[in-house]
Amino acid sequence: MNRPAIFFKIHMPELPEVEVLTRHLRPLLLGKTIRGISVRRAKVLAPTTPGEFRRTLLGAKFTGLARRGKYLMFRLDGKRAGKPITLLGHLGMTGRMFLARKHERLPVHAAVIFDLGRESFIYEDTRYFGRLTLDGSATAKLGLEPLSRDFQPATFARALRRFRQAIKVKLLDQMLVAGVGNIYASEALFRARLSPKRAANKLTSRQIGRLRNAIRKVLAEAIRWGSTVPLNFDGNNSDGLFYFGRASGAPDFYEERLQVYDREGQPCPNCRRPIRRMTQAARSTYYCPHCQRG
Ligand SMILES: [Zn+2]
Repeated sequence: MNRPAIFFKIHMPELPEVEVLTRHLRPLLLGKTIRGISVRRAKVLAPTTPGEFRRTLLGAKFTGLARRGKYLMFRLDGKRAGKPITLLGHLGMTGRMFLARKHERLPVHAAVIFDLGRESFIYEDTRYFGRLTLDGSATAKLGLEPLSRDFQPATFARALRRFRQAIKVKLLDQMLVAGVGNIYASEALFRARLSPKRAANKLTSRQIGRLRNAIRKVLAEAIRWGSTVPLNFDGNNSDGLFYFGRASGAPDFYEERLQVYDREGQPCPNCRRPIRRMTQAARSTYYCPHCQRG
């Protein structure tokens, strides 16, 4: 059978994608008990060992799921009474987490499988850059949570003041603001009308306020968008689960939601001049040199 050629560009999941996944998984996991554990790629548990992973999680019950930056934080109660367990998940570049019926065929790159009774919870990762670990140290280093109340202009300004690097590069620093990646950094700077090249410590408080609002806006919009389109969390039909951006020749719901990202040469939605691409810290930045002069 001939399938239409659809090309997906791989983008790393950012905060909105992880938030949408968190909201999707939470009701499916709450109250479920882990009855069996199969670890096919011990690497993704590191530094937790498979033995420790099994001992801690076997018989544990899911009691909560939250997100911090790009991390999923699963809460569980262990078999023996004690303090709750936190299991930290990160999708890396290509990770997927989903539930499947017990006897469905497992994907080739299934890294960890939890037996939940009638269903399995599967963490799959073709490149194994993601994580599912009991080591929580990664979240301790994270910076401001952009959709929380703590993300105030003054706090953001204090954090930026220490850096001379270009603002676009600093926005990708998870220890500064957690969860913003390459796509939403370009989008937020465009909406705040700020040059991506501007030194972080040279922004005025007015510009910082604008940028902070733009970051919140693009993230919230993307979460809303991701919550309304039909997503294949298991990726089986490669239907462009929105981690992977926009597909050429894709259906209507892929309609341009991004204003500059991946739109080199196309007209700026504001001034109609062409969007430019440049490389900053080995990543592509998309921007409008005319509208983003601040
Ligand atoms: Zn423009």
